[in-house]
Amino acid sequence: MQFNVKKRDELSRIGELLIDDKRIVTPNILSVNTNRFKAFDKADIILSNDKVKTNKPVLKFLQTPLKIDEKNFYYIDEKTGFVIIEYASQLFKKSKNFIDLIINVRKKIGYEKIIYTPAIAMPSNLALLCYMGIDFFDTTSAIIAARNKNIFFADGEYNIKDLIELPCNCPICNNINKKPSELSFEDILNHNYYMLFNELKQVRNIIKTGDLRNYVEKKVKTNTLYVTILRNLDMNYYEFLEEQTPVVSNKTIFATCSESYSRSEIKRFQSRVLNRYCKPDCTKILLLLPCSAKKPYSFSKTHKFFRRTILETSNPDIIHELIITSPLGLVPRELELVYPAANYDIPVTGVWNEDEKKMIKILLKEYLSKNKYEKIIVHLPKEITSFIIDFIKKPIITCVDSPTSDESLEKLKITLEENIVGFEKIDRYERTKQNLESLACYQFGKNIAKKLLKDTKIYGRYPDLKIIENNKQLGMLTKDRGFISLTLAGAKKIESYEKYWVEIADDFIPKGSILAPGIINTDENIRIGDEVLIFRKKSLIGIGAAVMNGADMKKSSYGEAVKIRHIL
Ligand SMILES: [Zn+2]
Repeated sequence: MQFNVKKRDELSRIGELLIDDKRIVTPNILSVNTNRFKAFDKADIILSNDKVKTNKPVLKFLQTPLKIDEKNFYYIDEKTGFVIIEYASQLFKKSKNFIDLIINVRKKIGYEKIIYTPAIAMPSNLALLCYMGIDFFDTTSAIIAARNKNIFFADGEYNIKDLIELPCNCPICNNINKKPSELSFEDILNHNYYMLFNELKQVRNIIKTGDLRNYVEKKVKTNTLYVTILRNLDMNYYEFLEEQTPVVSNKTIFATCSESYSRSEIKRFQSRVLNRYCKPDCTKILLLLPCSAKKPYSFSKTHKFFRRTILETSNPDIIHELIITSPLGLVPRELELVYPAANYDIPVTGVWNEDEKKMIKILLKEYLSKNKYEKIIVHLPKEITSFIIDFIKKPIITCVDSPTSDESLEKLKITLEENIVGFEKIDRYERTKQNLESLACYQFGKNIAKKLLKDTKIYGRYPDLKIIENNKQLGMLTKDRGFISLTLAGAKKIESYEKYWVEIADDFIPKGSILAPGIINTDENIRIGDEVLIFRKKSLIGIGAAVMNGADMKKSSYGEAVKIRHIL
């Protein structure tokens, strides 16, 4: 029996289990087969203690496990290697204990092993369970529900006496001519199987697209227990989730509920803006702006108005734009291409709730304590201005009505012009370079950013900017990645900082990508999407982008770790 993880999306994964030459895609559901309940005929794999006439793989686990870690409620089945959460169904109801157990087991066994939680999968919770990184489930809940005459729906279960019509168009419901109350145990059971396996296919498809979190946020709303589990996961395991969250991605975050605010992408972005990012040195005047629905912001109609107004002043490059938005909080203009600043969507009502207000206040206060300006101009709708105004020293307000009205834009232009008088004129090229340095601070940290941009010139038209030193290209900003992609010369310039590196085995000849077994050591702070400096025998031989995080590159026994961009 062999198991390979093929695709990962945060903690969730698509895997492939090879049993007797048969390939089973995971996540998957073991279909329970006994004398009384026949396995679902569409199932890929069967769970049975007795001999079953089938060409499908049949698994059998010991009724009483030999070794069970009493403190941790799990054991490893010696024959299959499955890590079985023995009391999953009881623990699941104690949301925090369940989360603690699953995450701690995963931390202990690594991502290459299978976790199986018996007797808890339902169509309503399957996405959440897969999101936690669980690979195998079984059909026990479908059987128990059928015994209680409960019908599975995508969002929960309903008793047959509460239904006015047959629930769906599955082959069972489609082919019988009965009232819901007349459904037999077998009818209900087979319908429940269809619902459970439909959901399984849907979840697998969504993991494939890398979009499971958005789907989970929708699904958990069907049960307070599920919401509690998701909230506990976000609250208590941010670091673990963040390690698996890419820094470069093109998937969209739909911030439709309060759970969206706790996503690791969003928390990491906020933390890096405060702790890594530094504003362009030459800017002296801060201009606070609202966000736009279209991303990146400067490609939107409203932001084109703002940009034009700024550019019409006599010293536009002394002005620094900071966008106030939910759920990200603060987005400096230079980070508008970065994930997830370029990839989120939120319902806009113009009304901010108390949590959003609190979040903006905390972030802005800390941002202003770290980034100093001579003047602060507030060009925001009244609703936002009203809750941030108190802790801005001498704010200058320029919105007459809506931020994009002719009157507001005219007032903004006049006010900017009045306030830039007396400051030294900032050179456009110098500012563009400092913008890239600010982005590099967010991407690599301040020291590397300063070194990378030192003695360079910037060429190209935003967003496609090239960093050049002595006619040699060090790196390039691209709209697709939102990050600076380094060349080998760029990597050479920053190698002494000993960050973002992997060391490959002496005899390893990389082609196209570096596979995990070829890696002997890494910087564990590397995240998926980061730039990676490739070393062999202590010398820099290449540059690429991370496909795994640094810790996993070291631990993994297979899989692509780094996509190579340049190699010697
Ligand atoms: Zn049905």
